Amino acid sequence: MTQPKILRLILGDQLNERHSWFQKKHDNVTYVLMEIRQETDYVKHHVQKVASFFLAMRAFSRRLIELGNRVIYIRLDDPSNAQNFEYNLKQLIRKEKFTHFEYLLPDEIRLDDELNTITGKLDIPHQVQDTEHFLTQRQDVKEFFADKKQYLMESYYRFMRKKHNILMDDNKPVWGKWNFDQSNRRRYDTSVPIPKPIKFSNNVADIIEMIDKAKVRTFGDIQPEKLIWPVNRSQAIAALNDFLTNRLPHFGTYQDAMTRQSWSVFHSRLSFVLNTKILHPMEVIQAALDAWKKNKEVIGIQQVEGFIRQILRWREYMRGMYWALMPEFANMNYFNHIKPLPSYYWDGRTKMTCMKTVIEQSLKFAYAHHIQRLMITGNFALLAGVQPDEVDTWYLGIYIDAIQWVEITNTRGMSQYADGGIIATKPYVSSANYVNSMSDYCVDCHYDYRTRYGHRACPFNSFYWDFLARHRQKLEKNQRVAMMYRTWDRKDDGEKEKILKQAKSYKKNLNDL
Ligand SMILES: Cc1cc2nc3c(=O)[nH]c(=O)nc-3n(C[C@H](O)[C@H](O)[C@H](O)COP(=O)(O)OP(=O)(O)OC[C@H]3O[C@@H](n4cnc5c(N)ncnc54)[C@H](O)[C@@H]3O)c2cc1C
Ligand code: SF4
Repeated sequence: MTQPKILRLILGDQLNERHSWFQKKHDNVTYVLMEIRQETDYVKHHVQKVASFFLAMRAFSRRLIELGNRVIYIRLDDPSNAQNFEYNLKQLIRKEKFTHFEYLLPDEIRLDDELNTITGKLDIPHQVQDTEHFLTQRQDVKEFFADKKQYLMESYYRFMRKKHNILMDDNKPVWGKWNFDQSNRRRYDTSVPIPKPIKFSNNVADIIEMIDKAKVRTFGDIQPEKLIWPVNRSQAIAALNDFLTNRLPHFGTYQDAMTRQSWSVFHSRLSFVLNTKILHPMEVIQAALDAWKKNKEVIGIQQVEGFIRQILRWREYMRGMYWALMPEFANMNYFNHIKPLPSYYWDGRTKMTCMKTVIEQSLKFAYAHHIQRLMITGNFALLAGVQPDEVDTWYLGIYIDAIQWVEITNTRGMSQYADGGIIATKPYVSSANYVNSMSDYCVDCHYDYRTRYGHRACPFNSFYWDFLARHRQKLEKNQRVAMMYRTWDRKDDGEKEKILKQAKSYKKNLNDL
């Protein structure tokens, strides 16, 4: 009997060399990776994001060849590249006479639907397999909450801790506590120096030349000889080890801290290698646990639990929520916000120091840490009433780790509350008080964080009260927000009027703030 001739597609975020596909060499299997306009153009991406994906894909294809596999790599500038999955796959199948097609489950619904359609049109059999990356299946979160009244992330976290036996003492959490969140909220106080972020010097000059020639629309900065992001397994492991040694000992304590002294503070910056599956989440969790066990005097429980929580809880939960709520989720706009995204999101030209710092750093490094994304740029967009599609487009384009399953759940759900409270239990909004308490941004800002109206009053202040007043009907029954309405109600009418007038005048000139 003749062997089937199999074509296996690897997507740009499926670079997992430990997948069972690659554990055995098969003479009848060919792998294909493709750089296509369909993927560079569905949103305008940061230039470092495009360069990192292409470089990581190229490195992965070389690695597979080194391991003895047959690989077809279609470059963006290949003259026969049809620039989309369907035509490239059809061309290859016809030309190379493949008899079977296989692919791994995509993480994005857009590609899931497309591959379903493509395989329906192929005249050869196909098979689809799991990526073996996540710790849960697509439908697990939905099923877990099926008989519960509310999506309560903490209960999911506890379930995951027990299921994977992580930080457990028999059936109880180690140290008798599930969550050390309360110890994760310190402002950066310079008592410990922040180590310099680990940077690689990957040369992407040829990729930049290629995308420039093809007129791919990108934005943001890049040093083509020094792309800083890890793009292969050895760099990813070096980044992980650097994190465990230099940052994990203070990760939890300063997780929410923002400072102009450092753009990544004690964060791991592992999201790109995790989302492209170069690293496995359990491998990262296990490495953090091992580091903690070996060095408990330096790495406290609140540091390691804080870090593991991000991966075991947030990451898996967001992925599950994506499959539970899409595609309807992508159109939700609970507050009916309609404003366009202010122009400074694209160039950082604003007098608000917090916004300027976070946006400029995002343009420079394609990175901002969680609290910067949530409590600065996200908070401002929500307070200003920006249309959630515009907010999504920005987040999906600008960050190195932005792939829809984890971007949209965080942006539309957690940050913009556009789902009316399915993912987050309250809108993550704040006045300048929070920004000032967690950062050094307000110190010499053009605006005054203490004032709500008048010359140089911080826009976050009047916007905050204006937001609560505008959406009172939708929010006042929420126990987590009710106290703020009591504070608002205690203000006298004159004060309220001045605040709302200030917000109105700032909104009229939103692009000039
Ligand atoms: C508005 C908004 C948009 C976001 N968009 C993305 C996105 O496109 N892609 C993305 O990977 N993350 C996104 N996040 C989540 C989080 O901000 C990033 O995962 C994190 O900043 C990546 O940096 P790090 O690797 O240094 O994370 P660390 O702080 O070191 O955390 C470790 C890991 O935990 C995981 N993690 C932490 N928080 C979350 C979270 N809320 N959801 C899912 N995983 C989490 C990530 O894999 C991260 O690498 C977004 C958050 C917000 C508020
Ligand atoms: S004063 Fe207002 S605008 Fe300025 S940094 Fe503080 S919060 Fe941001």
